[in-house]
Amino acid sequence: GSTIGILGGGQLGRMLAMAAARLGYRTVVLEPQADCPAAQVANRQIVAAYDDPVALSELAALCHVVTYEFENVPVVAAESLAERVPVSPPPAALASAQDRLIEKTFLNEVGVPTAEFHAIDSDDDLLAGLDAFHGSGVLKTRRLGYDGKGQRVFRGHAHDIAGTFADMGGVPLILERFVPFEREISVIAARGAKGEIEVYDPVENVHRGGILHTSTVPASVTADTGEAAMFGASSILKALNYVGVIGVEYFVLADGSLLANEIAPRVHNSGHWTEAACAISQFEQHIRAVAGLPLGSTARHSDCVMENLIGDDILRTPELLAEPDLVLHLYGKAEARPGRKMGHFTRLRR
Ligand code: ATP
Ligand code: MG
Ligand code: MG
Repeated sequence: GSTIGILGGGQLGRMLAMAAARLGYRTVVLEPQADCPAAQVANRQIVAAYDDPVALSELAALCHVVTYEFENVPVVAAESLAERVPVSPPPAALASAQDRLIEKTFLNEVGVPTAEFHAIDSDDDLLAGLDAFHGSGVLKTRRLGYDGKGQRVFRGHAHDIAGTFADMGGVPLILERFVPFEREISVIAARGAKGEIEVYDPVENVHRGGILHTSTVPASVTADTGEAAMFGASSILKALNYVGVIGVEYFVLADGSLLANEIAPRVHNSGHWTEAACAISQFEQHIRAVAGLPLGSTARHSDCVMENLIGDDILRTPELLAEPDLVLHLYGKAEARPGRKMGHFTRLRR
């Protein structure tokens, strides 16, 4: 067999390692935090920073291919690895997804519309941007935000914005037009080594406190909207010459039209349901793609709802285990801190 390297050791890395093991691969995880969720499953963990040159050399020597579970791996680390071992998805995909300004510019260039946006590098920029959007908008850090962290919402009235740029950390920001969406959906899609594309059906997502709460399949959208979302994901995969699984988040407007919100160059939380309702999960699909195997079917045998277990939600475990047709997946994290993703479950509807 051969060995797959995974940059990042969270729950996504853990689930990738499980899928890799089932296909007979060994896995090595590079992650600075010791005893991370992925290390409990992988064959080996290298405990070091993602851009540690010695660790990267070790990883390249041990692995036949390297992938990532975390989009904030430094692009230079992925590029330096790519000189020694195949890296999938391509490091250029990481670069597009790490900075919301580059990401939205790229999406519009490939014909996938987004909300209008402005780069914000000062309070003056923010004042001008809010003015252009009649006082409403979502201000986000360009880099490193997740689960709604590093965001501020402005809703159509006069704001005293003095000091906001500094309050947000003095880092580059983006102001997006506030999207009055009717619902949020996402598409999980994969492109294989030969360029073949497989797309799972669109998922409807509900967030709570900025964190994904539930993902429901099928999404309540028309066939046209669903097809447009899947087509957009395919366009992105082709433009990036991508190999692996990608997640694409969209807002659905009242008229059924779509605005893309962001892309995740990895397996995605809103694709966890595939492990319970499809023969081939997004995790296996990703491993198949990066290992150069043929992609599997994205067909769904059941409708379902996936729900995240955040913090103390893990106390629901006994009652969840008592339910028939419920697939529970826990991440082996010792401490249930508030806001921490501890696991998820998928309720099959049949
Ligand atoms: P994730 O955990 O999905 O990576 P994130 O921190 O990268 O989250 P976004 O996905 O950009 O943040 O935004 C989080 C949520 O905030 C969105 O799913 C949506 O509900 C809301 N939101 C974001 N941008 C806008 C917008 N321009 N207009 C209206 N709502 C928005
Ligand atoms: Mg994000
Ligand atoms: Mg998001």
